[in-house]
Amino acid sequence: MYRELNTPARTIMTPGPVEAEPRVLRAMATPILGQFDPAFTEIMDRVMKMLRDLFQTNNKWAFPIDGTSRSGAEALLCSIIEPGDKVFIPIYGRFGYLLNEICERYGAEVHTIECEWGEVFDPEEVIKEMKRVNPKITAIVHGETSTGQMQPLEEIGKACREQDILFVVDAVASIGGTPVKVDEWYIDGIVGGTQKCLSVPSGMAPITYNERIEKVVQARKKVEKGIETEDDRQNLGNNPFIKSNYFDVSMLQDYWGPRRLNHHTEATSMIYALHEGLRIVLEEGLEERFARHKHHEQALMAGIEAMGLEIYGNLESKLPVVTCVTIPEGIDGESVRKMLLDEFTIEIASSFGPLQGKIWRIGTMGYSCRKENVLFALAGLEAVLIRHDAPIQVGRALQAALDVYNNN
Ligand SMILES: *Cc1c(COP(=O)(O)O)cnc(C)c1O
Repeated sequence: MYRELNTPARTIMTPGPVEAEPRVLRAMATPILGQFDPAFTEIMDRVMKMLRDLFQTNNKWAFPIDGTSRSGAEALLCSIIEPGDKVFIPIYGRFGYLLNEICERYGAEVHTIECEWGEVFDPEEVIKEMKRVNPKITAIVHGETSTGQMQPLEEIGKACREQDILFVVDAVASIGGTPVKVDEWYIDGIVGGTQKCLSVPSGMAPITYNERIEKVVQARKKVEKGIETEDDRQNLGNNPFIKSNYFDVSMLQDYWGPRRLNHHTEATSMIYALHEGLRIVLEEGLEERFARHKHHEQALMAGIEAMGLEIYGNLESKLPVVTCVTIPEGIDGESVRKMLLDEFTIEIASSFGPLQGKIWRIGTMGYSCRKENVLFALAGLEAVLIRHDAPIQVGRALQAALDVYNNN
């Protein structure tokens, strides 16, 4: 016989997946409803309403894609990219490459610019290059979890609108943890993540998009029995059809909208999870939630710095929900992570590509973003670094973090 699941208790301080809200896990045990049951479609409608609040938008379309976060990015991009379309992607970390990879697979002609890791772009520089390239779409990451940086978007969004460029944003890491203002920042299409600051398990990708994107999508739309209206026929180019069935947002909106046309079988239990996760976020209040994330970030950073460790990356553009720490000279970063997990049950993350072995990444996201977690992570890290003979200031980290907590 196989043993029952027996998962160890963990304190998860990574940039995702983070600890799920207990209420969300309970909601996932709710009995299944049929996907066209009015009791269920009413839940779907409420999820759409709450997503609009989360994204701070009046967009008609806001619903989750069934799949991990990247599925939301892929759905948005594949629904608007026709082969040969120019897409402009400023890259400042690993997830910029993911956007590039998705766009290339759908036949886009991708133009990229890159800046040093640990930095973000000067919006002026992005706008200047964008004018030169003159793309149909500009796609960019808002919160880069690989480097702990956050790109200011409003100026770029405004320039996109002025030049009639579609602006698509990956806010997987930032949504629910730090302000993301879809309408105010002129964002046409955006994807958020569940397993990060929403503290819902991985497996859904909330998206929203406006009528500028809807227009492009509708022009490409193919209903089961052919072209729907004369307008559609007029608008069809050489490559009218969206190259994915699963990610075709025109079909998805017919399922999420009043027509309720069958597409996939909705992931009922995940919708329950997202419903409860969104309720918790909106109950707390967006501003209060952003302030809480900022507060625990400050306590964590104070502790890290009091130990004599260095925070990696430009602090002016730091993503508040991920703190990257430079691994001290001569210290084996993976050995530290292993001891933290084995002895303290604490998980922190390493990084990718050029930053592998150079930094640790500590997340303060959603339900994981709590005082006891921050204090425990600092205590564990200090103890483990002492056992690795790292040259740190001993006995100061928790005091510095407590100072932040007590001054508030
Ligand atoms: C985590 C993350 C993703 C990928 O999410 P998956 O759920 O693994 O598909 C994409 N973009 C950013 C910025 C992320 O932090």
